[in-house]
Amino acid sequence: MMHSCDVLVIGSGIAGVVAAIEAGRAGARVVLASKGRLFSGSSFFPGTWGLGLIAPADADDERDLMRTILDVGCGAADPALVETFVGGLLPAID
Ligand SMILES: Cc1cc2nc3c(=O)[nH]c(=O)nc-3n(C[C@H](O)[C@H](O)[C@H](O)COP(=O)(O)OP(=O)(O)OC[C@H]3O[C@@H](n4cnc5c(N)ncnc54)[C@H](O)[C@@H]3O)c2cc1C
Repeated sequence: MMHSCDVLVIGSGIAGVVAAIEAGRAGARVVLASKGRLFSGSSFFPGTWGLGLIAPADADDERDLMRTILDVGCGAADPALVETFVGGLLPAID
């Protein structure tokens, strides 16, 4: 089967879905291709605690979140960036 489009988006996490919607709104014919199901990836992983809407409750919780992100990242996540990200969650939500 052959499809033609103006924009081909690979991946249907938040980035891919938003890119596809925006390209469609701009009038492009869009194809969204993904290895996983629609709404997948880290964005929709059940352990993401609500996509940044929930912050760690205390220091133990922060350490647990950092450990989980590093585990799921399988070596791809930079520990310094993860620490900065996790430490910034509560101030960002506030
Ligand atoms: C445990 C955990 C907790 C997190 N907590 C937060 C948080 O609290 N706040 C926050 O802002 N961020 C958080 N993040 C990070 C955030 O989830 C990611 O940065 C963001 O979701 C990435 O979005 P994305 O669309 O770039 O990638 P993803 O959501 O990972 O999407 C990737 C897409 O590409 C597809 N794909 C992969 N390989 C292929 C291929 N070869 N061909 C076609 N398709 C492919 C996948 O199926 C998927 O649809 C967390 C991440 C993890 C793992």
